[in-house]
Amino acid sequence: MLFREIIGHNDIKQRLIKSVKDNHIAHAQLFSGLPGIGKFRLALAYAQYIHCTDRRDDDSCGQCNSCKKYRKFSHPDLHFVFPVLNKKGKKDAYCDDYLPEWRLFLTHNEYFDINDWLADIGTENQQANIFTREADEIIKKLSMKSYESEYKIMIIWLPERMREEAANKILKILEEPYDNTFFLLVSDDPESLLTTIRSRTQQVFMRPLPEETIRQTLVSQYGVENAQAVNIAHISNGIIYKAIENINISEEKEYFLTLFMQMMRLAYGRRLKEMKEWSEEVAGLGRERQKMFLQYSQRMIRENFIMNFRTPHLNYMTLPEINFSSRFSPFVNEGNTEQIMETLELAEQHITQNVNSKMVFFDMALRFIMLLKQ
Ligand SMILES: [Zn+2]
Repeated sequence: MLFREIIGHNDIKQRLIKSVKDNHIAHAQLFSGLPGIGKFRLALAYAQYIHCTDRRDDDSCGQCNSCKKYRKFSHPDLHFVFPVLNKKGKKDAYCDDYLPEWRLFLTHNEYFDINDWLADIGTENQQANIFTREADEIIKKLSMKSYESEYKIMIIWLPERMREEAANKILKILEEPYDNTFFLLVSDDPESLLTTIRSRTQQVFMRPLPEETIRQTLVSQYGVENAQAVNIAHISNGIIYKAIENINISEEKEYFLTLFMQMMRLAYGRRLKEMKEWSEEVAGLGRERQKMFLQYSQRMIRENFIMNFRTPHLNYMTLPEINFSSRFSPFVNEGNTEQIMETLELAEQHITQNVNSKMVFFDMALRFIMLLKQ
């Protein structure tokens, strides 16, 4: 991870870089801030900079052997500690058991939270912890000689999930650090750490990003159209992870719009055979997405009804939605809006009650044939 791959937070980056240049790296640092803000990435970029053998003025070189190993999260002097689950019938799981999964997870996820990790290791209802045995492993690893660099770095993700006994053991090394050994703690909830741990770490607090920074990133790195980027940046509260999640939600919306347009066009044209095919496609979506689609359709009907009153400030639609609605809205009027809404609500109810979804969507489309004629 290079510093320049991390969006914003320039003041903190400068401070971290300076600490390396001045050879004044605090031996234990606590990265905190809201989940999804990029704390782990920043800690990783910092570790890479410390280990880089050809450091540039403002970033790691990205090319030395050490940097190459960082790309695979496999530098031998970089150690990871993270919450894990006890596998069936075993006690005190530890991180090395999960190292292949963990590296794969880091490769595939730019920003993440604990739920993403849990979803990856397979069990959602279990409590992930950093177990007591891990503390012994940490001490063991750090008391060995380093392999390639003179520095050993231990990144602990979510130290708040450390069992108390483990935390107390760690505390001892934080009090009497080994030479050239650095701890980077990355916490979503520093308040719940032992105060003794907190007081022995130097704070690196990350603030939410400005809306404008998120907007720019969405446009330049994620290819989001500007108007939409403004929107997403506004609702993401400065958290880049949320913004990215919201792009996916907008993609879903586009798909729903396509389905909605198809449904209305087919019903208007009385194209029964294609309507049947359409219901089959929707039936393949899964119940949750079907419900989301029906809710989306209700919103579209409401928006189209309002559009007839020519009060654009009351409309909340994306550009493609407006394009379709400018032609479709005359068909949504005082005579049929209520019935269309009822039809959509009823379908949603039936989906919730597990009625055969092919039938639900086909019947619904049939009703639209009549309703659109009114
Ligand atoms: Zn390098």
